[in-house]
Amino acid sequence: MFKSLNLGDTNMDEKRIEALWDCVFCGNKGILGRYDTCPNCGKGRGVETVFYLPEDVQSAVLSREEAAKTTNRADWLCAYCGTYNRADREHCIKCGALRSDAETDYGSVNSQTDFGNFK
Ligand SMILES: [Zn+2]
Ligand SMILES: [Zn+2]
Repeated sequence: MFKSLNLGDTNMDEKRIEALWDCVFCGNKGILGRYDTCPNCGKGRGVETVFYLPEDVQSAVLSREEAAKTTNRADWLCAYCGTYNRADREHCIKCGALRSDAETDYGSVNSQTDFGNFK
């Protein structure tokens, strides 16, 4: 999870800040947005996780190289098991379903898909 922020630098580039989040399971605080599971207890962050900016925003600004690796794509929910997945994942971390299957683009859904097994 990254937030874009204009810090009013002389260059007009938007700065990309790595947001932080707190683990609701073990109380671990200030987990970097790049992690989608708690480094302390291993539990995944939920959809309701609140992100916030670090107090020292300047030091949290990503370098140009780091920012290039981040994405503006939205995080997504698996259509099959409801698991919350990070934007840069192409497969569900839980059931392995393809992200493209989860995205609501029914117009391009392959009609070969066999729904006969769902009862
Ligand atoms: Zn935790
Ligand atoms: Zn899934």
